[in-house]
Amino acid sequence: MNLPDPVVHTSGAVEVAPDVLVIPNEHVGLVPNIGIIGGTEAVLVVDTGLGHTNASAVRAFAEEVARGRRVHLTTTHFHPEHAFGASVFEHYVVNRAQAEDLRRKGSGYLEMFRGFGGAVAQRLADVEVPVPDEVADGVHALDLGGRTVVLRPTGRGHTLGDQVVEVPDAGVLFTGDLAETGQFAIFPWFPPHDTDVSGLAWIAVLDGLIAREPRVVVPGHGSVGGVEVVRGVRDYLGELRDETWRRRDSAAGLEEIVAEVRAVLVERHPEWTGREWIEPGVGCLCAEQPPFDGVLDSFSVD
Ligand SMILES: [Zn+2]
Repeated sequence: MNLPDPVVHTSGAVEVAPDVLVIPNEHVGLVPNIGIIGGTEAVLVVDTGLGHTNASAVRAFAEEVARGRRVHLTTTHFHPEHAFGASVFEHYVVNRAQAEDLRRKGSGYLEMFRGFGGAVAQRLADVEVPVPDEVADGVHALDLGGRTVVLRPTGRGHTLGDQVVEVPDAGVLFTGDLAETGQFAIFPWFPPHDTDVSGLAWIAVLDGLIAREPRVVVPGHGSVGGVEVVRGVRDYLGELRDETWRRRDSAAGLEEIVAEVRAVLVERHPEWTGREWIEPGVGCLCAEQPPFDGVLDSFSVD
């Protein structure tokens, strides 16, 4: 595999709301959108980029923006391009389920990503699985001075430890990989090693996020937009579920079902990248039974 070097370009940072910056991923694979949210006393960085060199550049840029304000870090989920630079930051806070994802699955993902070789492996050569400095239980309000940011664990979706970051005074929502634009939703469905992603729970999480009516949505990868970013992914996951379930009780084998669903979805979204994520998505939804009865407690707390 020869993937492009997933380098974070801090020079591309744009202000999406007062004192809320996004370093855009410029549509490069394994580069996340990175957030920098400022209050009067402190600044919160959301996601690190892959490896210490990227994360150090992000930290240096955040310190420039902070001008003496304290710099905190949180991550939307444990996947390497989002979190595996965390140890260059002084204060790393995440929710309990995500800390558990890091502990339980971090080394497996480190190995998998190193297996991609090339620039990705080089960027991870000196990286160890990060350990959070602070683990928050439930919805965590972080006071940055004159601005409170909400770290909201969503429950199972793209991973078990997904956490969205809300800036309520500005209506900004960082979704991590619960949302992407211009591509098929990323399904980390790798049986038997990792089957934590749930298409049904993910749909329920997105419904909860849509109901909160964010004005600015920063997806994990792709273009910043409004609530339609979340709606677009919600609609796609609905299509993926329906097209999969329509076929799964037929005599066709999984391979045949994947081929048919893929043909339908590619025709509907010809411009999207990431077609390789359709197959694991179908596999995941084939294994899921209605009705979804998961608990989404986090949305009832403000
Ligand atoms: Zn991810």
